[in-house]
Amino acid sequence: MSLQNNRKPEPLLNQPSVGRVCPVCGKKSYSLTGIHPQCAVQQADAPRQRQLAVAKRHERDLAERAKAAAGPTPKKISKLHSAASS
Ligand SMILES: [Zn+2]
Repeated sequence: MSLQNNRKPEPLLNQPSVGRVCPVCGKKSYSLTGIHPQCAVQQADAPRQRQLAVAKRHERDLAERAKAAAGPTPKKISKLHSAASS
């Protein structure tokens, strides 16, 4: 291991990346990795987005269960009451 491995990034113009195609969107990319930074973020974010969707669904499930256990809402009760008194 030597400090010489820690070299500066080369200028983009010297990279043979021109003409590469982004594997995410299929469009030409001139970036170092051949993938658009935005697409790379999107790709890296996909598992997190899936997890968020699962957590959201679970949360909604719990809320619905709690709602069902609580019975009719106070709004419904007051509506029933006013209907009975009139
Ligand atoms: Zn892309």
